[in-house]
Amino acid sequence: MIDLHTHSTCSDGSDPPGRIVELAAEAGCTAVALTDHDGLSGIAPARAQALQVGIEFVPGCEVSCRFSPGTQHILCYFAEPGEGPLQDQLETLRLDRDTRNGRLIARLNELGIPITEEMLRSEAGDAALGRPHFAAVLVRLGVVASYQEAFDTLLAKGGPAYFPKAFIDAPTMIAAAKGSGALAVLAHPLSLGLQAAELERQVAELAEAGLAGLECWYGRYSAEDRQGLYELAVRHGLVATGGSDYHGTYKPDLSIGIGKGDLNVPETAMRELTARRP
Ligand code: AMP
Ligand code: FE
Ligand code: FE
Ligand code: ZN
Repeated sequence: MIDLHTHSTCSDGSDPPGRIVELAAEAGCTAVALTDHDGLSGIAPARAQALQVGIEFVPGCEVSCRFSPGTQHILCYFAEPGEGPLQDQLETLRLDRDTRNGRLIARLNELGIPITEEMLRSEAGDAALGRPHFAAVLVRLGVVASYQEAFDTLLAKGGPAYFPKAFIDAPTMIAAAKGSGALAVLAHPLSLGLQAAELERQVAELAEAGLAGLECWYGRYSAEDRQGLYELAVRHGLVATGGSDYHGTYKPDLSIGIGKGDLNVPETAMRELTARRP
């Protein structure tokens, strides 16, 4: 068993990167990928822990790319911190996020809410600041009664303190990953909300752009959906990959390795991915 989709405190998970690796080893995984949103800051500590516990480690990240409606998530495997086109894209996203957070703080201040960057920093720890941290601080300040109310009354799309984020196009991301020696995989493809024929077309387009794999064995998918996605991957010459999308206590129904209890991503996925490394 392996798990190629996990999140740590370096994005929106509740466990530090080293703990993710420990949990994977305890669950009986022979390989684990760390795929925090938009960043690679957990890679070094996760890898150090993987050496300790003797499990194969895949450095990665997950990037939300442009799509309508919503976004499409691209997992990048074998993505290392350092220099390169993929890392440049992540840096652009980070700068954009900083700008947006600054605007959001200013807007909330205009609305009479005394939120500061320091409060947000202490809430976020190592993670990149985002709306969930704003929501948590708004609850602590007593501005709203709950996390969800913060979104419903202020932060959600269309709300008085909403600022859109910039998104990268998936083909740009796929090319950047390639340029950095990484492999791009479409995460949880059913999130696109497409009918079968449209999904087929979308996957064909991404495959044409250099996509390497399709996440078929996903923590929250049924056996039937997983099989359908596997066949889709095969039709387009893509590696069938999988993972739990573990977020710790933030998605309490999902455990590392086994997902909701019925996940078992085969080691062949790891071997096939490795064989495709540029
Ligand atoms: P950000 O990356 O800063 O735009 O924050 C996105 C995160 O905010 C998502 O991953 C969700 O966890 C959370 N979020 C976005 N919209 C809502 C909403 N309407 N209600 C609750 N949480 C939301
Ligand atoms: Fe997440
Ligand atoms: Fe995702
Ligand atoms: Zn994820």
